[in-house]
Amino acid sequence: MLPVNDRIHWKEWDHAYLWHPFTQMQEWLAEDPLIIERAEGNYLIDSQGNRYFDGVSSLWCNVHGHGRPEIVEAIRNQLELLDHTTMLGLTNVPATVLAKRLVEVAPKGLQRMFYSDSGATAVEIALKMAFEYWQLRGDSGRDLFVSLEGSYHGDTIGAMSVGYSETFHRRYRRLLFPCLRINPPHVYRYYRRESPEDALAHALEEAERTLNENQDRVAALIVEPLMQGAAGMWSHPVEYLAGLHRLCRQNNILFIADEVAVGFGRTGRLFACEHAGITPDLMCLGKGISGGVLPLAATLATEEIFSAFLGGYEEYKTFFHGHTYTGNPLACAAAIASLDILTNILLYNKIQILIKLSEELLSRFQEFNYVTDIRQWGLMAGIELAEDVAGRRPFPAGQRIGKRVVLEARNHGVILRPLADVIVLMPPLSTTEDELRRLVNVTAESIQTVTQR
Ligand SMILES: *Cc1c(COP(=O)(O)O)cnc(C)c1O
Repeated sequence: MLPVNDRIHWKEWDHAYLWHPFTQMQEWLAEDPLIIERAEGNYLIDSQGNRYFDGVSSLWCNVHGHGRPEIVEAIRNQLELLDHTTMLGLTNVPATVLAKRLVEVAPKGLQRMFYSDSGATAVEIALKMAFEYWQLRGDSGRDLFVSLEGSYHGDTIGAMSVGYSETFHRRYRRLLFPCLRINPPHVYRYYRRESPEDALAHALEEAERTLNENQDRVAALIVEPLMQGAAGMWSHPVEYLAGLHRLCRQNNILFIADEVAVGFGRTGRLFACEHAGITPDLMCLGKGISGGVLPLAATLATEEIFSAFLGGYEEYKTFFHGHTYTGNPLACAAAIASLDILTNILLYNKIQILIKLSEELLSRFQEFNYVTDIRQWGLMAGIELAEDVAGRRPFPAGQRIGKRVVLEARNHGVILRPLADVIVLMPPLSTTEDELRRLVNVTAESIQTVTQR
């Protein structure tokens, strides 16, 4: 136990010693931090005992609520057997079992699982595997990747290179490797006066042109299937995903699915690729893989890619990559328990009911004065706010509209985290219908309060 008398110092120590991710610390230091001390199910509880609904699943990773007994039990049992050892030269039981379990439910053809510990590392690994694969096949001229405009794949150098965001990455530009970008069929951003059908056709034409023209130089295309999360919840239709996959096949280019955010039930299926009936060559998993309880990630590969790395040691075809906590037994045990629960929920269509309800509830935002776009895929949604809705002119960044909505929601017992002025709703899959209604109600009231002020 932490010393009880320390509690008066928590804020002071946070402010004195911590540097928070994606946080303007000057703003942070001027405010009282919300210190989370405990959690129960879908609720976070702060150091004063206030309860908050976890409206963004603790940054998109929590699946079954907090402290889910089956997962706690699995970790506890595993902890008594084996806490951690290495996957370099050894293997362990939960890592082995989880690999088998995941391969069984992954899109058919993904046969090999490589562990790491965050979404960004899962992406780095996929990029390196794709890049090296072509060299091992004797096709060394492939030094380019293709990605979607505005995509996000994590914050390490390779992941930043394929996932460029002006806000996040502008000062690193000279460090990043070149990447070809294609516009996804977002009517709101790129195809303003077009119908969704025309935008889809034009986006696929652009993809076809880019892939065709650079056929011999592209190692892989990477995509967040169905929903580009951190870009601001930009959804695209299944046909676009299927189309990109088809174009990669036609042009002999590898297809990497970054399912870090959309995997594990978010879209209503275990994996988003299932909606399009496709098998990527490489698939990145993170966030929800452990139920959102412990850091874990994985990159899945086809046997075709895996086998290119086989040979005598002296051929140096080994995939020379690894992280210390790769295949951590506790995280894998949590993931197995989480997968058991998830398989059950998906079987009984519980998520479909929540998705349907969430569609209904979200439609009310259409009438709001400052809501300019609503985007949803499964149990993930973004409500975009703008000062001038018709002209799609955003609020000035300094107004911190998104942040103010989130602070207002907090006063009503809901934790949210915006992406600039896009209000993100991403509740755990364990949310009840009443909790979903309350989440939407509080969000609606908070938007009204802030924009009318
Ligand atoms: C969150 C995210 C990542 C990065 O995962 P981390 O665990 O934060 O490194 C990568 N890709 C997508 C699509 C994500 O949403």
